Amino acid sequence: MNGCISYLQQSVEAERERGTAYSNTMGYDIERFVGYVNEGLLCCICRDVLENPLQAPCEHAFCTTCIHGWLVQNHNCPEDRQALDVSMLRPLFRYMRNDLNRLQIWCKNRQHGCEIICSLEAVDRHERECEYSQIPCLNAGCTVQVERRNLDSHLAVCEYRSRECPNGCGYAILSADDAQHNCIAELRTELELLRSEMICKIEEVRHEMESRLDSQRRHMVQKESVLQNEIEELKSQMSRVMSDMRTLVAEERQHRQELEQAELEKRELMELLKSLHKENKLTTGEGSGKRNTGGRPLNRLESMKRKPKEVTII
Ligand SMILES: [Zn+2]
Ligand SMILES: [Zn+2]
Ligand SMILES: [Zn+2]
Ligand SMILES: [Zn+2]
Ligand SMILES: [Zn+2]
Repeated sequence: MNGCISYLQQSVEAERERGTAYSNTMGYDIERFVGYVNEGLLCCICRDVLENPLQAPCEHAFCTTCIHGWLVQNHNCPEDRQALDVSMLRPLFRYMRNDLNRLQIWCKNRQHGCEIICSLEAVDRHERECEYSQIPCLNAGCTVQVERRNLDSHLAVCEYRSRECPNGCGYAILSADDAQHNCIAELRTELELLRSEMICKIEEVRHEMESRLDSQRRHMVQKESVLQNEIEELKSQMSRVMSDMRTLVAEERQHRQELEQAELEKRELMELLKSLHKENKLTTGEGSGKRNTGGRPLNRLESMKRKPKEVTII
């Protein structure tokens, strides 16, 4: 029991050092309740009314914060020393929860003027919206805390409130900076900012365009060299074809000449044959006296017959 009390004192002091009201985090101060509160609804550690209660197997009940804090350094029930750890904790019996929820409690802002009394079940919801709750000013940078009901009057005089410049520069001026506001200076700063942003953007775009052009240029150069190679190839093919053509033309011309030659010789042969026929008729008519005169034409015929073979070989 002594250990429990000294733990209680330590935690109370720790809470005070942190600057928070003890009853806000561990149990509800019993002074806030209207009427009698059953002893069974008090926390065995902080002795206030149970807040977020949990129950040990020995049926002792505690605020969640209180028992979790206790079990960090102890492994038993602070009331009867029975073995206990966090996994053994259970929700409170339902009838106790109902009793707890039905307790009537003053709003925590009673000392500031709130006169609301409501059930414990509903008090959190009320306190979140209570006109007497301290809330921070809505203006960025302002550290003032005001009661909710006084927020509007604070906002009207808050140093951090801002309004649009009456001279039409478009700036919101904090009321604290009112005297120092200079439309021209503000606009000049803005202009400088925009100008430097613009320069940056132009640089970026230029850089991108240049790199794109560069890659296109490289691509074109490659393509050009490929095309150049193809042209060279075509040229050499062309010159081969031309020389083949020339050879063919020359051969054809020669063939034609040979053909003409052959035609000529054929005609000569025909004439020779005709003349031979005539001679034959004459010799058969005149006797064999002039037979030798035909020797020359016959020799020519022999040589003519051999010539066509040479032509076909060529
Ligand atoms: Zn407690
Ligand atoms: Zn116990
Ligand atoms: Zn209230
Ligand atoms: Zn303010
Ligand atoms: Zn201005």
